Amino acid sequence: MITFENVSKQYERGANPALRNVDINIDRGEFVFLVGASGSGKSTLLSLITAEIRPTAGRVFVLGKDVSGISPRRVHLLRRQIGTVFQDFRLLPDKNVFDNVALAMQVLGRSRHAIRKEIPQVLKMVGLNGKEKRKMYELSGGEKQRVAIARAMVNRPDLLLADEPTGNLDLDTALGIMRLLDWINRQGTTVVMATHDAAIVNQYRQRVIEIVDGRVVRDQKQGKYGGRF
Ligand code: ADP
Ligand code: MG
Repeated sequence: MITFENVSKQYERGANPALRNVDINIDRGEFVFLVGASGSGKSTLLSLITAEIRPTAGRVFVLGKDVSGISPRRVHLLRRQIGTVFQDFRLLPDKNVFDNVALAMQVLGRSRHAIRKEIPQVLKMVGLNGKEKRKMYELSGGEKQRVAIARAMVNRPDLLLADEPTGNLDLDTALGIMRLLDWINRQGTTVVMATHDAAIVNQYRQRVIEIVDGRVVRDQKQGKYGGRF
């Protein structure tokens, strides 16, 4: 599903590379924690998967296609198959829950009929049944992240990328979001989640890829946040 072949990324000439010689392979259906300190290169790695940025060297394959030098038109097609969630939610503050989720369908030209049919289903899935009309400022942090996950999933992507999705949430709320991401993964969606939330990583014991200074230093099945044990 995702392959990095000797990928390096340097944002500016002379700057330290954000990623160095990264080789990873993520299969369909996997759940992967991407861990590492702030500035280690986690978001850079996720941005290479969505082709938001291009590698300086090496090749990135996503869903069977080389996206290293992808054209803008094809980026659009790629993104349809990838849902993304961020720490800061990135929702439209003046819009209600329904409209925030509907937007993701409207940009793909989905019909009003499809939108009215799909949104109640996806809101039920994320636990926001009956909250269609709530504005963003009426929601808690955990509820906002559920809206963001609904928006990411409403077009049924094969791959969900989550960049520190629990970073703004207290532990109980974070665990609720984690349960939801885990459930989504069990339904068949591949999930890659960048995090430095040790409690969550240690509780779920999924595959862990650890980055230090742009290098993959650990790729472990059922790993903990730090160390081997
Ligand atoms: P993380 O997500 O693990 O905190 P990032 O991938 O955001 O790490 O950053 C890795 C390195 O790349 C950092 O040194 C950061 O300052 C640098 N960096 C990230 N984005 C940019 C950018 N758009 N332009 C220049 N440098 C960047
Ligand atoms: Mg980041």
